[in-house]
Amino acid sequence: MECKKFVYADNAATTRLSTDVLNKMMPYLTENYGNASSLYNFGNIARSAVDLARKQIADAICAEQNEIYFTAGGSESDNWAIKGIAATMRKKNKNHIISSAFEHHAVLHTLKALEKEGFEVTFLPVYENGIISIDDLKNSIREDTGLVTIMFANNEIGTIQPISQIGEICKDKKIIFHTDAVQAVGNIAIDVKSLNIDLLSMSAHKFHGPKGVGALFVRKGIFLPNLIHGGGQERSRRAGTENVAGIVGMGAAIEISCRNIEQKNKKLRAISQRVIDGALRIERSRLNGDPEKRLAGNVSLCFEGIEGESLLLMLDAMGVCASSGSACTSGSLDPSHVLLSIGLPHEIAHGSLRLSFSDENTLEDADKILEVLPGIVKRLRSISPLWDKIKQKEIKH
Ligand SMILES: *Cc1c(COP(=O)(O)O)cnc(C)c1O
Repeated sequence: MECKKFVYADNAATTRLSTDVLNKMMPYLTENYGNASSLYNFGNIARSAVDLARKQIADAICAEQNEIYFTAGGSESDNWAIKGIAATMRKKNKNHIISSAFEHHAVLHTLKALEKEGFEVTFLPVYENGIISIDDLKNSIREDTGLVTIMFANNEIGTIQPISQIGEICKDKKIIFHTDAVQAVGNIAIDVKSLNIDLLSMSAHKFHGPKGVGALFVRKGIFLPNLIHGGGQERSRRAGTENVAGIVGMGAAIEISCRNIEQKNKKLRAISQRVIDGALRIERSRLNGDPEKRLAGNVSLCFEGIEGESLLLMLDAMGVCASSGSACTSGSLDPSHVLLSIGLPHEIAHGSLRLSFSDENTLEDADKILEVLPGIVKRLRSISPLWDKIKQKEIKH
């Protein structure tokens, strides 16, 4: 057995592959190596396993099995949904897409690419609470709006968007509604039918499944062009021999993680709240995003007068794995687009820390973080010219 030497608090970046899930996958990496598309019985074993996983995923979001398409992850699902619908919009002379300013880069950069091709995109502002406004959405809709793509829950600050209202508006206006639900699946109960979602992206490694496998829900009746041409897999829409073990793992993982969402969230809220209460005792600190309408396991904080990157390195040295925001932006000196989108000034957005918990974390993990965090912030501030300035201003006032 592995021994846990560190506190892993970066579950929004990825989660540990659950041992039960690995055990379900193993036979398909070893003895059951048949091709799911073959006609002999040996291939049928793999076919049945893929079918079961498709059912597990459909059941988890209240969809039909033939509305689920396997992909290589969340980014691929987002790209396929958005570029695919954009291509169908062209034929209908629709040129306008609505999204939000704080989408994951898999959505944001896809939309930027479409802008270069001539599409017009409205990026709805996000307010201080980390939530878009329904009035803004209504006011942005035009005659030629063909797609709304707004994430279910944000990956950096964890805030949950008014998906049900967005779905209703889109249904009413006959606009296709896609949501990047990569952070939500497994953490929030989702019913794509009652929420009027047309397309939904998910990724297995965010809920204790394997990396490199995801799925896209496409509501029956929505036309989406094929992503990969080739064999007849995924009803010819995404060709290529199935990643059987990955798909089996995704099915098992989604079933496990959707089993006791309420109970799991109760535990996560307790861990998060302990960290939030402790961290907010540090002067000039803040919690980013709505305190209620957020993923139970997400804690996004800012500490004035320090750099998030230095904070991360020192936390790492003390055995805490965390993030300053999205893993994709680390390494760049710009503060996160998400924190800027909710109106934080650059200098505050720089001092960000995201702690994201899963059901494998404990209250002890929260205590361990709080044992080291205040001391690290204090030390970094003691050598920060920025902090000096803040303090001098305080004296003057
Ligand atoms: C992780 C993540 C993605 C990307 O998923 P991959 O499977 O890593 O490609 C997309 N959107 C959100 C909100 C995410 O958190």
